[in-house]
Amino acid sequence: AKSGPSAVTNTMGAYACQRKTPLEHHNAVLTDALLLLAENADFCTNEGRSVAFKRAASVLKALPGPVRRMEELQGLPCLGEHCQRVIKEILEHGASSEVEMTRHSEHYQAMKALTGIFGVGVKTAEQWHRAGIRHPADLVSSEHKLNRAQRAGVEYYEHLRVPVTKAEADRIGEIVKRAVDAVLLGAEITLTGGFRRGKQTGHDVDFLITHPDEGREEGLLPKVVSWLEARDLLLYQKTNKNSYLEAKEWPARPPSNMDRFERCFSIFKLQRPWAALEEPPQSGERGAAETPGWKAVRVDLVVTPVSQFAFALLGWTGSQLFERDLRRWAGQKGMSLSSHALYDCEQKRYLRATSEEEIFAHLGLEYIPPGERNA
Ligand code: ATP
Ligand code: MN
Ligand code: MN
Repeated sequence: AKSGPSAVTNTMGAYACQRKTPLEHHNAVLTDALLLLAENADFCTNEGRSVAFKRAASVLKALPGPVRRMEELQGLPCLGEHCQRVIKEILEHGASSEVEMTRHSEHYQAMKALTGIFGVGVKTAEQWHRAGIRHPADLVSSEHKLNRAQRAGVEYYEHLRVPVTKAEADRIGEIVKRAVDAVLLGAEITLTGGFRRGKQTGHDVDFLITHPDEGREEGLLPKVVSWLEARDLLLYQKTNKNSYLEAKEWPARPPSNMDRFERCFSIFKLQRPWAALEEPPQSGERGAAETPGWKAVRVDLVVTPVSQFAFALLGWTGSQLFERDLRRWAGQKGMSLSSHALYDCEQKRYLRATSEEEIFAHLGLEYIPPGERNA
């Protein structure tokens, strides 16, 4: 009888929400390669192809050890012909020619730089690329019109490129807590997104805010924003109202992956607590302009009625692929899952839950803790 990988092979589910995916895994060389191809497929607006590469990478992340031979992949889900070809080349030659060619291509590099600007999606980046824009710096002098988000994105580009650390996320958590406490007694905040999955860095910080008395949370964000702005803690913010009304939802509007909570996409001005401890500049040239005493940090604030909290928490913890497969799994079970609710399409009723565990149970899934949702 075989042992090792084949035992896993036989039991690994095809949906990311059926397996445990830790943050640290054993196949980073392979997954980095596949995720670069996924990213490039996104840059070519080929979503199907992108998801296929992401699924394959995710399967490798869930393996108990490093892949050394192609035979070890036998029977694993989501590994199509193309992925196998890439993996084979890396196992045999240490690198994939397709990946290296893509990595160095002008289109990939320009699209990576341009979509790295806050407020810029693939469509806009592609238009700019066609107009000869290659880098955010090209936008400063160009006549291309930028919206408010993109202007902030260009202005703070160098700051926002630097990953946010867990320490910075915790510091921002303290600030948000103080703001929320000041405007609504008893409101609760929860760190979600990648940091809740145990990541040590992130591209932003995500928070959920709720209040134990349903309805009290309504209209909270404009007050929080005013509190923060009065203290010069925000560089940018865009706040949207809640537009979710359960009675008008299913089946008129099947849930999308965008939710409709009251939310604020923002850029915080985080004072560096260590700035005061730094050596003063030695000469006139290396002044404050080069190393400001603050850092721009992307922060997402989402307000949820407490009755939807478990769904919002599950929906905002990620990873993105884990969420996608949760929704696909629900669909295949005759249910419809969003960050607001779970609807049973056959019984024509909503399935309530006050914890993530209950939602997994409704879906007939084994509970996967946040630290193992790094699909
Ligand atoms: P990172 O560390 O890079 O920030 P992350 O996993 O936290 O990684 P985010 O883009 O911050 O990634 O998203 C966190 C989660 O919130 C994801 O699972 C995503 O599906 C969900 N999410 C993000 N934006 C929205 C949105 N507009 N509507 C609904 N859900 C969203
Ligand atoms: Mn995040
Ligand atoms: Mn986010």
